[in-house]
Amino acid sequence: MDRRISKIVIVGGGTAGWMTAAAFTRYLDRASCEIRLVESDQIMTVGVGEATIPAIRVFNDRLGIDEIEFMRKTNASFKLGIQFENWAQQGDAYIHAFGYYGQPVNDVGFHHYWLKLRQHGDQTPINEYNMPHVACDLGRFRHPVDDPASVLSRYFYAFHFDATLYAQYLRGWSEQRGVRRTEGKVVDFTLDGESGHIRSIRLESGEQIEAELFIDCSGFRGLLIEQALKTGYQDWSQYLPCNSAFAISTAYRDEQTPIPPFTRARALQAGWQWRIPLQNRTGDGHVFCDRYISHDEAAATLLENIEGRALGEPRLLRFTTGMRKKTWNRNCVSIGLSGGFLEPLESTSIYLIQTAILKFISCFPDRDFGAAGIDEYNRQMTDKYEEARDFLILHYHATRRDDTPFWNDCRNMEIPEELAHRMKLFRARGFVSFKESELFVEHNWLAVMIGQGVLPQRYDPRVDAMGLEQVQQLLEQTRSTIRREVEALPVHARALADYCKGELLSRHR
Ligand SMILES: Cc1cc2nc3c(=O)[nH]c(=O)nc-3n(C[C@H](O)[C@H](O)[C@H](O)COP(=O)(O)OP(=O)(O)OC[C@H]3O[C@@H](n4cnc5c(N)ncnc54)[C@H](O)[C@@H]3O)c2cc1C
Repeated sequence: MDRRISKIVIVGGGTAGWMTAAAFTRYLDRASCEIRLVESDQIMTVGVGEATIPAIRVFNDRLGIDEIEFMRKTNASFKLGIQFENWAQQGDAYIHAFGYYGQPVNDVGFHHYWLKLRQHGDQTPINEYNMPHVACDLGRFRHPVDDPASVLSRYFYAFHFDATLYAQYLRGWSEQRGVRRTEGKVVDFTLDGESGHIRSIRLESGEQIEAELFIDCSGFRGLLIEQALKTGYQDWSQYLPCNSAFAISTAYRDEQTPIPPFTRARALQAGWQWRIPLQNRTGDGHVFCDRYISHDEAAATLLENIEGRALGEPRLLRFTTGMRKKTWNRNCVSIGLSGGFLEPLESTSIYLIQTAILKFISCFPDRDFGAAGIDEYNRQMTDKYEEARDFLILHYHATRRDDTPFWNDCRNMEIPEELAHRMKLFRARGFVSFKESELFVEHNWLAVMIGQGVLPQRYDPRVDAMGLEQVQQLLEQTRSTIRREVEALPVHARALADYCKGELLSRHR
């Protein structure tokens, strides 16, 4: 008997819903499987997922999306990293740039050579050996080259884009490929008495929609995964205390305002503020914990810290950091905010959406919904959320700030064992512990550990096979090559204008 799934309903048409629909059109047999997406114009999308990490390109490439078209349609700019201001201490800044520090020598990581020089009194920041960091400092961009010998091959890039336009773009993409969209508010559901599976949903119009598989992309409310299936939520606010954000869009001050190729994350008294540069405006927001600052004060702080004219009023979003106990429960998979939310500091949400989609497709069920496949998917997704969570905690915990109760509590909080182990190991001997399959690998951890002031006491002893003078030459050559190459690159706005060839960017011509 044919056990293939023939009817799928996706509830929700935010970024998660339309990314899921688009990927399903690419990977599922459309002749045997109907895909329907239900969304309600009465319920707004979150619409603020504007900063991404390089993995987004994998998702777009897999779908076959043309980068120039996508960038033009979503007002996207290039992103080489995130600038963290006032995190390690007030007045301090570093960039988590998407690229390597130098090159390993004799299989020993470059940062160990840097540490050796440092222990001999050289104070050159490690940033100067990182190509995308220098490109951020100088506001330059170009696409990486293929030649592995070039410093211009040793980095990655992502995008800032208008999340609402991205969802709209993917909607057009999905509808052209056969996804049927239904406008309507889901008001009820029926469960199968025996299996507990969701059998159907009911819309306000009275229409009943049956399916074998339901994808819950309904946002924070978790309409199916929580309200229907009562799956439960793991609350991580003891580690990631922010629970609210005010978001707003802002106009550029004038035609000459540069468009930096990085996100800005400035730590404040009880949270932090983002600034995300798009082609036509910036997205700004203040993420905070309302146990330490009032909503009025948080909104006022946001408005004090924006640079251009506010386009509208600050919009409040409330959340609890954490994840669903099972993101796949019975015949329902929760993707996007319905599955969990950490916080936007390292732009991991859209990455977690694409990971959920691609992993789910790789263990796509039949109508039996075998437990082994579901358990494996849940195990892998929990690992992904925990990896991202620990990386985020590092930013809050490894701080020397003692100027507000919020930072004192972050500095003194208990952290997960795995993160404590990573920090201890790095402090002891500069060794970064990570698995190849992890999202954040050596250069990511190095950027944030060193940026937050977590410094190793020792370097790898194998470095001493090279004399001090030779190490000095190696570092100086790396530094000057990066500087020379980056100085020859176009400024970011110019690179964008040339690449997108659009009237959108005519102000930069
Ligand atoms: C403050 C903040 C900043 C963020 N910044 C970033 C970032 O920089 N980078 C990043 O990667 N991510 C970021 N995110 C996360 C990102 O916004 C989300 O991951 C992304 O937008 C996906 O949201 P979603 O589609 O899951 O939910 P939503 O956008 O909330 O969409 C939910 C959908 O479900 C529909 N719906 C709900 N209930 C019903 C119903 N009863 N009937 C019918 N339809 C219904 C709604 O109409 C809507 O279409 C941020 C999130 C927050 C809160």
